[in-house]
Amino acid sequence: MLQVKNLNVSYGAIHALHGISLEVKQGDIVTLIGANGAGKTTTLRAISGLVKAQSGEVLYEGKSITNMRAHQIVKLGMSHVPEGRMVFANLTVLENLQMGAYLRTDKKAIQNEMEYVFSVFPRLQERQKQVAGTLSGGEQQMLAIGRALMSKPKFLMLDEPSLGIAPLLVKTIFEKIVEINKQQGISILLVEQNANLALEISTYGYVLETGRIILQDQSSALRQNPQVKSAYLGGM
Ligand code: ATP
Repeated sequence: MLQVKNLNVSYGAIHALHGISLEVKQGDIVTLIGANGAGKTTTLRAISGLVKAQSGEVLYEGKSITNMRAHQIVKLGMSHVPEGRMVFANLTVLENLQMGAYLRTDKKAIQNEMEYVFSVFPRLQERQKQVAGTLSGGEQQMLAIGRALMSKPKFLMLDEPSLGIAPLLVKTIFEKIVEINKQQGISILLVEQNANLALEISTYGYVLETGRIILQDQSSALRQNPQVKSAYLGGM
């Protein structure tokens, strides 16, 4: 579904990604874990066309999308839930969801998507008229995921969905991520600092350190890996 080959990204003099390669197979949840500043967000931004790759290649369904413009990439069926959620604080829940479908014109299909989002997140339906800025962090994360689903993606990228969210809601959100993956067959690339949770729901994982992939394996194997355990799983 997605192949990233030897990706290099710099912000001026800061070389953020040093030749990253990774793969997401159709229907899989793949996770990218790593500490603050390792380059996780930059990897997602480069895939979705929000930062420019200096070199390397991004292949989506076998075709190069390297440095294609972000809205064209969305049209191909890729959706990105950014770190910090970035919902439109002054718009209602309903308006935020409608914004997620702005590239689509088929009203019936948009309505179907809205119903699906409400079936996954009943809380959004209850609060559809509420202004998004007044939702809790967890509810805003649900809204950000719901908004991404409104473009009917085949491939979804999630940047730190657990960040700043109450533990109980984090659990719910991760269950919903699995549900979306299973029900809709949407392939997912998940970036997380909460390695425990991320490795629990994914099939394959990559560990990023200072812009380089230092480890990759089946998630179940990474959870047993001593290096991963001591650095990312709290030494358990
Ligand atoms: P975090 O979890 O803190 O977001 P991350 O793993 O997602 O961390 P990135 O945000 O991708 O890491 O950052 C990778 C490196 O690139 C860091 O050294 C960071 O300081 C740098 N960087 C990120 N964005 C910019 C920017 N807009 N301008 C300059 N440097 C940046």
